[in-house]
Amino acid sequence: MQNYSLLSIAKHALSGHRHWQPAWRNPEPKPHYDVVIVGGGGHGLATAYYLAKNHGITNVAVLEKGWLGGGNTGRNTTVVRSNYFYPESTRFFDHSLKLYEGLSRELNYNLMLSQGGVTNLAHSRHDMEMFERWSNALQLQGVDAEMLTTEQIQDRFPLLDTSPEARYPVWGGFIQHRGGVVRHDAVAWGYARAASALGVDIIQNCEVTDIVQSADRIQGVQTSRGQIRTDKLALCVAGHSTVLAAKVGLPLPISSQPLQAMVSEPVKPVLNGMVISPIVHAYVSQSDRGEILLGGGADRYPSYGQRGNYPLIEETVAAMLGLFPSFSRLKLMRQWAGIVDITPDTSPIMGLTPITGLYLSGGWGTGGFKAIPAGGDTMAYTIANNRPHELIEPFGLERFVTGALVDEGAASGVAH
Ligand SMILES: Cc1cc2nc3c(=O)[nH]c(=O)nc-3n(C[C@H](O)[C@H](O)[C@H](O)COP(=O)(O)OP(=O)(O)OC[C@H]3O[C@@H](n4cnc5c(N)ncnc54)[C@H](O)[C@@H]3O)c2cc1C
Repeated sequence: MQNYSLLSIAKHALSGHRHWQPAWRNPEPKPHYDVVIVGGGGHGLATAYYLAKNHGITNVAVLEKGWLGGGNTGRNTTVVRSNYFYPESTRFFDHSLKLYEGLSRELNYNLMLSQGGVTNLAHSRHDMEMFERWSNALQLQGVDAEMLTTEQIQDRFPLLDTSPEARYPVWGGFIQHRGGVVRHDAVAWGYARAASALGVDIIQNCEVTDIVQSADRIQGVQTSRGQIRTDKLALCVAGHSTVLAAKVGLPLPISSQPLQAMVSEPVKPVLNGMVISPIVHAYVSQSDRGEILLGGGADRYPSYGQRGNYPLIEETVAAMLGLFPSFSRLKLMRQWAGIVDITPDTSPIMGLTPITGLYLSGGWGTGGFKAIPAGGDTMAYTIANNRPHELIEPFGLERFVTGALVDEGAASGVAH
């Protein structure tokens, strides 16, 4: 793999940057792989990378129907944090955040991790009580969380309306200082480049159209570029999880819904980190380019249209203006949506399935970007050893039969 460094930039500058190697190879699909991963988003690519790096399994293909990161991985609002509520979730998401903290160096790819803090706003005494319980739970699990007063929040976000007449009065809140943002495309590209260098075949424009199985055992996949044989198949297809699982008659408790985001025209720095109001249903950050990035809740009906509906845009903008009235003078520049895979308890579904050789990494819903490193690491372990990694045992499909749900609605809801 070509090393990226200041020296290599300087060297390539001498030849007008015309001789950089492509970041990853572009191979033709082979007839057989030890592991086939469907979906070239963050989870598929990270799983492939850790299979090769941690388990020495390199005869692996990642099949992507479009382009790398063209799904939710390249459409999200880039928030990373580990302030979930239940120990199962916090352990998993903190493992992910720790991996993110060293990932630029490991992949030799600048992921632009910026840990400017993630602040949750409380708008009533009851919110404050909940936040105290939440941040205490986090501290007990060794995750950083600090309660903030209204004055401390005002210092961080001078444009936030904290006056007594505010539409949404701010009673205080809590912050995870290690939370922040990561450049989303870079996560896909960084993993793709490193996986490809280890021997993984990354095949774009290759849609999986059917799954071949016999006697409840995976045999391979039918794709738009021919049949590929494998006895280990991992589905990492987010909003299309139910579509592909239906090919082998496996029903999943997942609903596919659009989730929107939007950005304003760029302005000078006005926000100190990311701020979220789970109650008002909006969150805001500022990109390095100065755009105000705005997100809210998911559209309320299932759809595969990556557009989103107008009422939700209005609802999200109105919520944001209730918090930051002066943003009413900004122009919205772009809006988009991705199709997120929401489970009843808003926790992921990861691990083995009742079909031998079929593995699932889905149900990431509105918050799976922050989970990409841990998702890849633990899925690779699960595929290599054919048993779930201990961190993902609570997130198996069987919890919908046993009833052992991990209900993270409050922590994973709008606070992506
Ligand atoms: C607007 C928005 C904001 C979000 N904000 C955040 C956030 O701030 N923080 C956070 O943690 N999470 C956030 N998320 C969620 C996060 O983006 C996703 O959970 C995560 O990216 C899922 O990654 P993935 O690899 O599973 O899926 P994807 O990145 O969607 O990749 C799946 C891939 O599978 C491919 N595919 C589908 N079907 C087939 C097929 N038949 N054959 C071949 N390929 C196929 C798709 O083309 C796609 O590229 C947000 C999502 C959206 C939409």
